[in-house]
Amino acid sequence: MDYDVIILGGGLVGCAVAYELSKYNLNIALIEKDYDIADDISFINTAIVQDGLQGTNDLIAKLQIIGNNMLGDLCDKFGVPFNRTGSLIIAEDDDQETKLKEIYNRAIKRGVSGVEFIDENNVKELEPNLKCDIKKAIYSKNTAVICPYDLALAYAEIAFDNGVNFRLEEEVLDIQKSTLGLKVATNKNKFTCKVVVNTTPYETDDIESVVMEKPIDKITYCMMEKDDSRNFNHIVYNAKNKNSSGFHAVPFGNDGVILAVRNEESLELNDVTEYISNFIDNVDISEFSNIFKEDIHKELIMIDDSDFDKRGYIKVTGNNFSEVTVAPAIANMICETITNNLNCTEKKDFIDKRREFYRFKDLSNEERNEIIKIDPRYANIVCLCSLVTEAEIIDSIRRPLGARTVEGVKRRTGVTLGNCQGAYCLSRIISILARETNKKLTDIVKDSKNSKVIRNRVKEFDEM
Ligand SMILES: Cc1cc2nc3c(=O)[nH]c(=O)nc-3n(C[C@H](O)[C@H](O)[C@H](O)COP(=O)(O)OP(=O)(O)OC[C@H]3O[C@@H](n4cnc5c(N)ncnc54)[C@H](O)[C@@H]3O)c2cc1C
Repeated sequence: MDYDVIILGGGLVGCAVAYELSKYNLNIALIEKDYDIADDISFINTAIVQDGLQGTNDLIAKLQIIGNNMLGDLCDKFGVPFNRTGSLIIAEDDDQETKLKEIYNRAIKRGVSGVEFIDENNVKELEPNLKCDIKKAIYSKNTAVICPYDLALAYAEIAFDNGVNFRLEEEVLDIQKSTLGLKVATNKNKFTCKVVVNTTPYETDDIESVVMEKPIDKITYCMMEKDDSRNFNHIVYNAKNKNSSGFHAVPFGNDGVILAVRNEESLELNDVTEYISNFIDNVDISEFSNIFKEDIHKELIMIDDSDFDKRGYIKVTGNNFSEVTVAPAIANMICETITNNLNCTEKKDFIDKRREFYRFKDLSNEERNEIIKIDPRYANIVCLCSLVTEAEIIDSIRRPLGARTVEGVKRRTGVTLGNCQGAYCLSRIISILARETNKKLTDIVKDSKNSKVIRNRVKEFDEM
């Protein structure tokens, strides 16, 4: 047997499961097809930690309440940005007020704490820049904003330091049952194991598949730089009913705000901007630093361990707006099933700590001077917009499961996310990546095999 447990997929759920299982005396591998873990979270995530208020499924709401509680402590321990902003759901007319009452009653039934009705004056105190008229609102204090990618990275780094074998750039091609447990075939290897936890959309004939339903809505996200006169302090939703579009705003502190419009049909950008203008003043398309569209699916999350006794197979399927929130609860449930069934013992030497790192832009001048004394490369600013130093980029490459791509450096450090979108610093990042990974400049990729940033040399110089 090559491994006790093989986890398929290095998304947030796969990394959370790897972390929980790495607390036990188990031989574990995680197989991920991409160059980096959690590539699929990308920036298409509103990063909201839900609190059990939204959504019609009571079981998912229960998992959200558990996950919400766990995430506060986990982020504190891991040093992952987590901001309990609270949220507002606003009603502008009688219909929406009726909807609001439904949401409130549902929340009380579910045992969601920290929820209250407030009137227009209270809303305007909390959100002075909100433009629309308000009849009533629900204020919920437990909703939070998180950095999902950083959370996945923290889970994965600790799992790695506690012995999980991360097999990146390896694609699962087949999973079969055998007399000796399960066989997993990839494009590079064949493995046997006692248990497979499949968090990828991948299915085989042997393993029953779950058909993903068609999307129910389309959503457009527009990112806007921070502007004090149009800033939000809380996550703000409108009480969308069947016939109206949905709006929500998610504040990211100094990093600006995401404005989202949800609709049954995909909207033109002009219509999206017009709809957003109902909620904030003077919005113009040219102000959006990034725009992306996504499908919204029904609230599906399925943890299928019905075959666990016979085959040792667990499948996590889902496409849910709160999967980040529920990931810690899902990982705990899966870990309990496996460790109880395999009679596992806990590791005595488990290290529940992420290796230290510094975010230069968040430090005081005294702290900055201290770290510059230790490593002068902290004085070398590479990304001027986001104030990221050479030492931080080097650390992001040399850390456990370090960055190998421009996208990897970007996600770990925040480079190229500012106003200039990398125009100033991209070539310097590529040079550092090439130097630290001992590669040619022309071999550095954006995120995947066929995404070289510098295609060719135009002239033969001695140095580039
Ligand atoms: C637009 C949008 C907004 C969202 N906003 C929120 C939010 O505000 N709050 C919240 O809680 N949640 C949110 N979510 C949900 C959440 O971001 C995702 O559902 C979650 O990140 C999914 O994690 P996962 O690990 O289940 O799946 P994935 O991230 O998809 O991970 C699966 C992994 O498996 C790998 N893989 C696939 N096939 C193979 C193969 N054959 N071999 C090896 N590896 C393979 C993939 O490369 C991937 O890394 C949002 C989702 C979307 C789409």
